[in-house]
Amino acid sequence: MRRLSDDDAPTIGRRTFLRWLVGGAVGAAAGCGGEDVPITREERERLDARTRAELAASGRGPLGPLRFRGYRGLAELPWFELDADGHPVLAAADVPAGIDLHTHLGMALLLAPAPDLHARTERVAYFLDCDAEPGGCELDLDVYMNLNFTPAMLRALRFGALRQFTIGDAAARTHTIPNLAAELDRAGFERAAVLPIAFGLPFRDDLSERWLAALAESPERQRFVPGCSVHPRDPDAVERLADFAARGARIVKLHPEMQRFRPDAPEALDVYAVCERLGLPVIFHAGRSGIEPERLRPYALPRHFDAVAERFPGLPIILGHGGARDLPDAIPIAERHANVWLGIASLGASAILRLLDRLGPERIVFGSDWPFYPVATSLVKLLLATKDRPEAREPVLRGNALRILAFRDA
Ligand SMILES: [Zn+2]
Repeated sequence: MRRLSDDDAPTIGRRTFLRWLVGGAVGAAAGCGGEDVPITREERERLDARTRAELAASGRGPLGPLRFRGYRGLAELPWFELDADGHPVLAAADVPAGIDLHTHLGMALLLAPAPDLHARTERVAYFLDCDAEPGGCELDLDVYMNLNFTPAMLRALRFGALRQFTIGDAAARTHTIPNLAAELDRAGFERAAVLPIAFGLPFRDDLSERWLAALAESPERQRFVPGCSVHPRDPDAVERLADFAARGARIVKLHPEMQRFRPDAPEALDVYAVCERLGLPVIFHAGRSGIEPERLRPYALPRHFDAVAERFPGLPIILGHGGARDLPDAIPIAERHANVWLGIASLGASAILRLLDRLGPERIVFGSDWPFYPVATSLVKLLLATKDRPEAREPVLRGNALRILAFRDA
């Protein structure tokens, strides 16, 4: 049996330390005011039932099987070809120049050194790094995107998240402004909204400040719609929002799971009132993705958004991921409220098709969730879902986003 050497000891110690540190910091932040949100047994079971049903139905819908060998495999489709580095590049001339309302930059919090957001790197390490191996992973575009993670990839994702709080993550150093701009060029996109999250941590929780400053300095700033975030339990949230808007923020991101708040809780109402007054649309992480810790799942259930949309009719609300695995519960919210749009980030192609059938293209907006996945994967799913109605592409890819971002003047 191999004995522990002196080299092993600090590694084990450091790992334990990191777990303790992040668990403690996030726990401390969550402890301030977060409440237990009731969830029914039926709601709990619905998540698994929907996942099973989606996997079983994959490839059997009107679009047929949509399995590809890595991101490079997208070049089998008529719209894409590969560039010299093996990236899929949009080759079709008739696709409107898109606006991606859902992207992020490299995160570093607490002790992690901030990545250089102006660096250009040879490749982007997507969270689903499907082309990391030469053969590429198997990519099924007919299911919710995170079902493509293998258990090993999910473990790596969780460790990457841990490094974002501690020693810094190598992948995060590739999630930079020039890399996102290059990706927008490859996918034929005009602009992207960049969305930070205010986690409510005790220190170094300033992604909004850092990203707004970095975007303002970037020579490519006209390619981006700067976003900001506040924590609803931050006593300075209202002042902070006004300050962010003055520094150029045009959209607000709220993540009920990561921020541990119920969207219709009284603590969040002031935030919505200010956003409505300042003309800042709010994009929520909405619905259960199925890979988050179970105790966080009740926070983002679509039913929590009904009262918000009702009470703030002048506030444009985007339910990101279309409510994720809870898509069927998010659709009626958009049907009831004219100020609610559903985002398509992570949804499978058949789910996007269903969404178009139910809501029509005027209430759907494009999102990729870059750097989780390439912008091209979301685009491909939309192009497939609109094969027989290409006129739906302009509103989803750009028209609705333009209207939402200029809601004040509409
Ligand atoms: Zn996201």
